[in-house]
Amino acid sequence: MKDEIDQEEVAKRRGIYFPAFSIYGGSSGLFDYGPYGSLIKDNIQNIWKEMIFSEGPVAMLDSPALTLQNVLKASGHYDRFFDYSVQCKSCNTKFRADDIVESLGLKVILDRDYLNNIIREKGIKCPKCGGEFDDVRIHKLMFQVDQGENMDPLFLRPETAQGIFVNFKEFYRFFREKLPFAVIQIGRGYRNEISPRRGLYRLREFNMMECEVFLDPKDEKWVKEPYDDIKIHYLTNKDEDLFMTPKEAYEKGIIKSQPLAYFTGFAFKFYSRIGLDVNKIRFRQHKKEDLSHYSSDTWDAEALTDIGWIEITGIAHRGTYDVGRHIEYSARDLYAQRLVEPHKEKKIELEPNFKEIKRDFGDKAGEIIKAINNGNSTVFLNNKQISLEKYIIRKEVEVTVDRESFVPIVVEPSFGLDRIIYALLDHNFDKREENGYVYLKIPPQVAPFIAGVYPLFPKEDLEKVAKDIYQKLLNDGFKVIYDDSGSIGKRYARYDEVGVPFGITVDYDTLKDSTVTIRFRDTTEQIRVSINDLTSKLRELLWTGKKN
Ligand code: AMP
Repeated sequence: MKDEIDQEEVAKRRGIYFPAFSIYGGSSGLFDYGPYGSLIKDNIQNIWKEMIFSEGPVAMLDSPALTLQNVLKASGHYDRFFDYSVQCKSCNTKFRADDIVESLGLKVILDRDYLNNIIREKGIKCPKCGGEFDDVRIHKLMFQVDQGENMDPLFLRPETAQGIFVNFKEFYRFFREKLPFAVIQIGRGYRNEISPRRGLYRLREFNMMECEVFLDPKDEKWVKEPYDDIKIHYLTNKDEDLFMTPKEAYEKGIIKSQPLAYFTGFAFKFYSRIGLDVNKIRFRQHKKEDLSHYSSDTWDAEALTDIGWIEITGIAHRGTYDVGRHIEYSARDLYAQRLVEPHKEKKIELEPNFKEIKRDFGDKAGEIIKAINNGNSTVFLNNKQISLEKYIIRKEVEVTVDRESFVPIVVEPSFGLDRIIYALLDHNFDKREENGYVYLKIPPQVAPFIAGVYPLFPKEDLEKVAKDIYQKLLNDGFKVIYDDSGSIGKRYARYDEVGVPFGITVDYDTLKDSTVTIRFRDTTEQIRVSINDLTSKLRELLWTGKKN
């Protein structure tokens, strides 16, 4: 039954998500979250935020999507962030070359010549029209935004992470110069995907919840130990399917980095809390040849959906790559420091030779002294370049050293919100055996509304009481919706489809004894509750996460 549900059709019909700008024909890879979807998305984001903040040393950043070219040169995106595309000579459809090769069960190597040769050798044709393919090309994935003449272009960020890395020093100070800590950013990422497809799966503008965990490479530990109360499906790069706790995975060396192991557990707990079917979640380790240039180990959380296993979160060990590159490209001090056993070190100190400088430069001596103190070896004076060498006195001094500088390493769990929503809907849409009606069995905390308030019939006396209850629940801080149009059965069905877990119905008994019916979405069972107890009952249902 469940397999017959077309997620995109229900999502569009019921205002969960749908193609953006559709009155103008839309554009692939751009979607709107409608009145229900945007609330579901907001709830998931808030749960994630609440969970990650409760980890302890976590701070948040909100940086611009428009990013400087130099930032992306440093990060490697400017040169390396591309896919290989092939275009059909007949119907002009563009595909990712690796997707075409992979879909035929052939080995994929991300190399232009390899992909070109295999497409030629095997005579691979366009899956849409059977036409011949043109040569494999490089397709840049970043959207470029022009600023005007004589100015470098800006780029829409392909990930939110770079904003965090360039601000490392800001957060290092915020955390009183202590590691580890994590910085999160929730925002949009932009990628000019060659072939956006399957609704929310591959978008050109998508929502990310990224977390960058900064660590001392000599003490690579998150503040909590990996979980030992959950069993996770790990698929290693040797194709072994293992079922174990994150703690075991770390202790047995399956995942060598403690924070990496920790955050597989964090992700699993988060998925479980928002209502993903955790039996359809696995963590797949990247094979050596698939690792990004900066990563020594990456585990993708994948969810099993109607389109197969899809990556919903990437958890990558990024080493010192990011901060190191920004140090190199910006020439700024983005180092962290660690305490070391105090010891004496010999150091050369540079000192201006005041006598000589005064003699040779007279009233310009100040400029020379300043240049030497700034560490310069030459200076321009009266349009002449002067070497400062002979005006510098080098002194060997002994200093006590109790700290050393180092580049922090980063472990990054990066959650793709849209794919999480795709998987969530896939796991939770169900059909009733008895009548084939669709309902969405998401947890109350994720649901767009905790309850609908309905008068049984469109009668003034019932409507008045229902509206009063509705207003009272709003005042008590609940997200509720009022609806008096259509038969009560139709209203239940309408809100079942968008996941509203409880229906509060006002009928003629309500007028007599001040009780209402609460109907449960998943079982359709009904209970009778006094109006006075509604707030505490809903609170209990919401916070215990009980669906019934
Ligand atoms: P990545 O930086 O490529 O590891 O992406 C991080 C996460 O963002 C992935 O795990 C996906 O869930 C999500 N993601 C990446 N690209 C897209 C896309 N084009 N559309 C929707 N989600 C995406």
